[in-house]
Amino acid sequence: MSVPLWDRARGRYIRSAARFCVKRPLAINTQTPLVSFTFDDFPRSALLAGGAILQRFGLRGTYYTSFGLMGKQAPTGSIFLPEDLAVALEQGHELGCHTFGHCDAWETKAGAFEDSVIDNQRALDNLVPGARFKTLSYPISPPRVGTKRKVGRHFVCCRGGGQAFNVGCADLNYLSGYFLEKSRDDPESVKSVIRENAQARGWLIFATHDVCKSPTPYGCTPEFFEEILQAAVDSGARILPVFEAWKALCGSLSS
Ligand SMILES: [Zn+2]
Repeated sequence: MSVPLWDRARGRYIRSAARFCVKRPLAINTQTPLVSFTFDDFPRSALLAGGAILQRFGLRGTYYTSFGLMGKQAPTGSIFLPEDLAVALEQGHELGCHTFGHCDAWETKAGAFEDSVIDNQRALDNLVPGARFKTLSYPISPPRVGTKRKVGRHFVCCRGGGQAFNVGCADLNYLSGYFLEKSRDDPESVKSVIRENAQARGWLIFATHDVCKSPTPYGCTPEFFEEILQAAVDSGARILPVFEAWKALCGSLSS
């Protein structure tokens, strides 16, 4: 069934509204370019394979966690188990919020989305007492304007997609992210984005899901991941989890 013209126009309006409304501006002003590596849904392989590669480079990433998916089989692979949380934290990775119910950021009403953010924080506190999510990635779709407004208050920054890096005046309520799997057959195009980010002294936030030999459509292989990580290191960028990159940009050591 085709989508009626009006619905398509409305869809475009909502998506651009997400980009242009309820902004929380941050001027990206850094001598050293920044790159972050993030994993949405936190499939086990993102830690066991992706995390192992990061560790070999002495680096750390951000795992965007939906506690409602814990231990389940999802379209992005086998999702983390409770014991993986301690391992991720011991290795210095950041745990970020991806809502408890993996709520589609466009299909879900703002109030229900915020409730799911609160549920996810409660679940984290139950398993890792005292731990707090400081950043979020929006599941599946761009956020509604009302969702940006509500969840912006819970986090220092929130990431979407867009296949772009952040430069100039970025929006902390809707930072751009670059999904690696969309270019997993074309590493050169990813490397050219890494070079552009270095030249512009921007903040490039990579995202993917599983990292394994036979990835789902939403993931990439360990070889590809390592090749991109090496290119990011070679670009001279600082590679930091999202919360630490935000701190570096704010020039602040406190949260
Ligand atoms: Zn997700």
